[in-house]
Amino acid sequence: MPAHPEAIILGIAQDGGVPQPACSCNTCAHYGEKESQLSPTSIAVRDENDLHLFDVTRDLARQLLFIPEESRRVTDVWLTHGHLGHIDGLGLFGKEAMGATGIRLHASKSMLKLIQNTPQWDSMLKQGVFLPIPFVSNETLRISSNLSIRPISVPHRDEFTDTHAFLIKGKKRTILHLPDHDRWDTTLTHVGMKSIRDWFQHIQADVVLLDGTFWSDGEISRQTNVPHPPISETISLLGPRNPHDFDIRFIHFNHTNPVISEGYESHDLDLKGWSLASEGEVIELT
Ligand SMILES: [Zn+2]
Ligand SMILES: [Zn+2]
Ligand SMILES: [Zn+2]
Repeated sequence: MPAHPEAIILGIAQDGGVPQPACSCNTCAHYGEKESQLSPTSIAVRDENDLHLFDVTRDLARQLLFIPEESRRVTDVWLTHGHLGHIDGLGLFGKEAMGATGIRLHASKSMLKLIQNTPQWDSMLKQGVFLPIPFVSNETLRISSNLSIRPISVPHRDEFTDTHAFLIKGKKRTILHLPDHDRWDTTLTHVGMKSIRDWFQHIQADVVLLDGTFWSDGEISRQTNVPHPPISETISLLGPRNPHDFDIRFIHFNHTNPVISEGYESHDLDLKGWSLASEGEVIELT
């Protein structure tokens, strides 16, 4: 076990994963032919003897292989919100699969309500698979001498639950994990900041794992119903990365996003010095 915390990227796809079921777009066909895949977005943080999982996807078995074998026992789960790819692996901790007990389940009150109202998950609470621990928006939780976590409420289609980003702070470095939000104007108003730079500097984020679902507007026909700030818009609001800027690594890619298409480097997509996260990547927090 590392003495100091580190984060590991376990997935970088949007909720549907890549390839998506029954999709024959070039990207899905390419991954299908290679018999490879991208899993829905999730990260893990190793800290002393604990393993914190941020969102639980159906690909948990594949995703835990990115973590050294001696550290694969999940002790804590943190949930951003109730959309498909962020919670559809919860059942894997139950008696049909891992048969785990005593996993601390950190979630907002509205997220925990959804769990209690879903018979399959409620039975896991009753069996002691999960110990529910409600968190409060913007309250920093001291996890260990090396690690603190602050859930930050963000506006996102609140169909089932509210939505949170997480500020994960190690001794020297801090990650903002923000896989889903709707629009920059509403998010910045919500957090009381004038610009993306002001916000990330204010919370002292060194690395931002940021919603990069789409590259541009109009990527899918129903995009107005599933709003996410496109990467091209985020980058035009930010401008180019300066040498001392925080480090943004985009995550949560829809299968239509050209950044995950075959040979995307040739597609003339200018990231202006910002970058894309990759599965298995490790980010030191110390
Ligand atoms: Zn999502
Ligand atoms: Zn596709
Ligand atoms: Zn979502």
